[in-house]
Amino acid sequence: MAEVPIEALARIHAIVGERGWVAADEQERFLVEWRGLWRGRPLAVVRPGDTAEVAEIVRICAAARIAIVPQAGNTSLCGGSVPDEGGTELVLSVERLDRIRELDPQGFTITVEAGCVLADVQRAAAAADRLFPLSLAAEGSCRIGGNLSTNAGGIHVLRYGSARRLVLGLEVVLPDGRIWNGLRHLRKDNAGYDLKQIFIGAEGTLGIVTAAVLELFPRPRARWVALAAVPDPGEALDLLAQTRERAGEALTSFEWMPRFALDLVLRHIPGTRDPLDKVHEHYVLIELDSMLEGDARLAERGAALLEDAARRGVVIDAAVASSEAEIAGLWRLRESISAAQKQEGASVKHDVSVPVSRVPDFLGAARQKVELEWPGVRVCAFGHLGDGNIHFNLSAPAGADAEQSGAFLGHWGAFNRLVHEVVCAMGGSIAAEHGIGRLKRDELKLVKSDVELDLMRALKTAIDPAGIMNPGRVL
Ligand SMILES: Cc1cc2nc3c(=O)[nH]c(=O)nc-3n(C[C@H](O)[C@H](O)[C@H](O)COP(=O)(O)OP(=O)(O)OC[C@H]3O[C@@H](n4cnc5c(N)ncnc54)[C@H](O)[C@@H]3O)c2cc1C
Repeated sequence: MAEVPIEALARIHAIVGERGWVAADEQERFLVEWRGLWRGRPLAVVRPGDTAEVAEIVRICAAARIAIVPQAGNTSLCGGSVPDEGGTELVLSVERLDRIRELDPQGFTITVEAGCVLADVQRAAAAADRLFPLSLAAEGSCRIGGNLSTNAGGIHVLRYGSARRLVLGLEVVLPDGRIWNGLRHLRKDNAGYDLKQIFIGAEGTLGIVTAAVLELFPRPRARWVALAAVPDPGEALDLLAQTRERAGEALTSFEWMPRFALDLVLRHIPGTRDPLDKVHEHYVLIELDSMLEGDARLAERGAALLEDAARRGVVIDAAVASSEAEIAGLWRLRESISAAQKQEGASVKHDVSVPVSRVPDFLGAARQKVELEWPGVRVCAFGHLGDGNIHFNLSAPAGADAEQSGAFLGHWGAFNRLVHEVVCAMGGSIAAEHGIGRLKRDELKLVKSDVELDLMRALKTAIDPAGIMNPGRVL
């Protein structure tokens, strides 16, 4: 058993004070993630109050060779943000780094600390009549440091790109405790390597992001949102292409969900209702946005699009939201699927992506494989069709008891291998949202070549030679 570095811990305790030192009986929420799949035992849990404290802690850890697990909102669910069971890893939560340092409405930038909750950043931007477009179902609890470290996506990637595209500058505490102040506000900077991109999506393996300069956009003045029933995923793809052609920049989101997902939401989420009279097998949720106040043409374009698609048999039925409340209601159906599936019982998750035009093939092939593997498995596949990013989730057979559910969950790895094989055969990615963490570390070689893995290891060794930053995650 490793010796407890008592002196180093005492120095860290002195730096963060009582407010930043999490007592053993208050550590639970930092040690287990939302799904309960990963639970760890920490050396200590600390919540430093500013970048200088983070740097001092990292310096002490580097000298004492203490491993650090950075944590933001703890919603990434792949074993990256919680400690392992060894009792040797220090959890460093950035949640107290929650200041908005600057908002520049003319320059369309906001400078925020890593612990800011995503929804708070959106609200701050909106209060200045600006849009921060990163938006995902976990936005009430995930935090900017985690969003950047996982290169988060969400429902607006189609139009604004994922987190990587929204960052102009970064502040990072390096694994030796130095602070890299790269908080530039530049939209053009071709002077040497773009270092910030190395830390984005690195899942805390290269350093601790403490602040970022994020890009803001004009706030949309009009929205048009519809839930359309389509015959199958192939027709959904056709509708996506048509919508892109006709709506261009106005197309902000294009989400796909099957009836099974909608049924789960209607069953488990209070206050939801089916907006269509008839039951259909497949749906897409489309949002068009305009920068013009009360833009009547937006609704006309949306209506024309649906009419044309209906004529061609691509859309069978549709509900168009006529108020902000109805827009929220339609989005709630889509955004509640994960929570509803959790209530339905045991489920196995895959957040994968394939080239957009391969989504229907992927859905068919992956479904066939898992149904053969586990008779009665209920496929709950849904997601960001516009990005080729599908949550290919599996619910245990209806009525599964505790033992059967346990056996189903015990098959997680085997399901992953089956689905990931299909993904890889289509040139896709096995981690389109939640990251690699520990969950998919051993499968990374399926989607990265030897050359890519060598380059990643070389970067890790160059920046974190002692290997103290989130060890065993990603690589
Ligand atoms: C209901 C639900 C819906 C979701 N929908 C989406 C979606 O649409 N799109 C999407 O991309 N993701 C989605 N996610 C996944 C998750 O919300 C994202 O991965 C999110 O970006 C994680 O942020 P977090 O603050 O929770 O990070 P955490 O889980 O705390 O951390 C994520 C990783 O980053 C590291 N890390 C955290 N903070 C820092 C830091 N300051 N510096 C360096 N490393 C750090 C951690 O060690 C960990 O490896 C969803 C999750 C849930 C529960």
